[in-house]
Amino acid sequence: MTSQSSVKTLLILGASGDLTGRLLLPGLARLAAKGRAGGLKLVGAGSDPWTPEQWLERVSTSFADSLGQADPAGKLELERIARSTDYHQLDVTAGGELGALLKQLEGPVAVYFALPPQVSQKACEVLTPEEVPPGTRLVMEKPFGSSEATARELNNTLVGLVPEDHIHRVDHFLGKATVLNILGLRFANTFLEPVWNRNYIEKVEVIFEEDLALEGRARYYDGAGALRDMIQSHLLQIMALMAIEPPATVGERDLRDAVSTVLRASSIKPPFSTTSRRARYTAGSISGRDIPDYVQEQGVDASRNTETLAEVRVEIDNWRWQGVPFILRSGKAMGIKRKEAVITFRPVPHLPAGFTGVDSPNQLRIGFGPDTLQFDVDVNGPGNILSLDRATLNAVLSASDLLPYGEVLEGVLTGDPLLSVRGDAAEDCWRIVDPVLRSWSNGELPLEEYDAGTTGPASWPGSP
Ligand code: NDP
Repeated sequence: MTSQSSVKTLLILGASGDLTGRLLLPGLARLAAKGRAGGLKLVGAGSDPWTPEQWLERVSTSFADSLGQADPAGKLELERIARSTDYHQLDVTAGGELGALLKQLEGPVAVYFALPPQVSQKACEVLTPEEVPPGTRLVMEKPFGSSEATARELNNTLVGLVPEDHIHRVDHFLGKATVLNILGLRFANTFLEPVWNRNYIEKVEVIFEEDLALEGRARYYDGAGALRDMIQSHLLQIMALMAIEPPATVGERDLRDAVSTVLRASSIKPPFSTTSRRARYTAGSISGRDIPDYVQEQGVDASRNTETLAEVRVEIDNWRWQGVPFILRSGKAMGIKRKEAVITFRPVPHLPAGFTGVDSPNQLRIGFGPDTLQFDVDVNGPGNILSLDRATLNAVLSASDLLPYGEVLEGVLTGDPLLSVRGDAAEDCWRIVDPVLRSWSNGELPLEEYDAGTTGPASWPGSP
């Protein structure tokens, strides 16, 4: 099925960059091969003096995988996009250059800022409203600002150029399928919603732990760290979806209103020595790979005290969640890969006398990418019928047929901001973590250490 994109031109600023080559173009290719970017013109731009052939080479390389798998109509579509693509050299931070390019392109145009964040910000500051044709969509990458104040400033700049619903703040972590899987699970099952509150849930953990180390990304990561890179953005968004009130529809307005309501009620409370912790990896080994000490990695400035593992306890001050800790943790160079939300239910009020074995609290685990569901329940074990045993019910949830950035681009091209972080939510996510970042930079909390390939510092059993 071919669907016409409401955006006529996708302008990617940062054509030679990593994001463009590794994620954006392959995401677009898969989308286009499925006939879901009909009529789109692709334009690349960068500060390099590339020839049209160099750009085409980049596009063709990124499209190759999808081209190999596409049906005849998909192949034709990819070939059409490649044939019609252009490259423009420009310095987006020089007043007038981006505006002049926008004038030449067929609108509506979606401008994807695949640029270093300071460059994107400067580019938006030098654009004037008159240079931005009606219907233009601005697509901003993370990190969106570096504090509540800077996120607000950036929001003010952007809404001076286009309306809020034409601003897409990308959070590629939450694909559409994942968001809808969480909503489907929570709101399409009568048995779950009545227990989804402080009376029955003891804690909620949202965990993203990866076995990848720095992988040459010091330039970005050493200035960010785990709290800014992952928790401030992705994990708070997942937390909010786990905690929202039932929306009337899954439209962007209802859903993003509900997310913002949760975030506004959320905070990390002092003393931060009990509600946060941070650590940095030292040398170790992961699946037979030797991982060097973080501070020995090229481009790392040890005196920045950048954490590669961070954990915070967020509280949501509303009727449903009062007193339930939401523990958000993200780490690099960990021994086990985990990307999941774990809901731990309260113990039963009374276990009939006579049962033996372990009565462990029920846990529901929602895995992200691939989306899975695991429900740990206590059942009567084999053999001795009085002895309790643990059983796990497993399900695999539906996956998207697009790559994560294909989903992002589909939202942009069809004008659906559902997957985009709304301006107020972006500011609130910084408001939640800013006090912790300040306390860490004042040295109020030790930076602990863990060997790469382990589950974190030895002193971190359990959660705060
Ligand atoms: P890179 O440093 O690889 O690429 C940046 C691009 O910006 C280059 O193509 C560069 O072009 C261009 N550029 C820089 N200055 C200018 C300018 N004044 N005018 C025009 N073009 C300019 O960055 P990434 O691709 O890694 O990241 C881009 C954004 O995406 C960042 O915000 C990042 O945080 C975000 N992101 C990146 C991810 C990744 O995996 N890479 C993942 C998630 C988000 P030239 O070389 O020609 O100057």
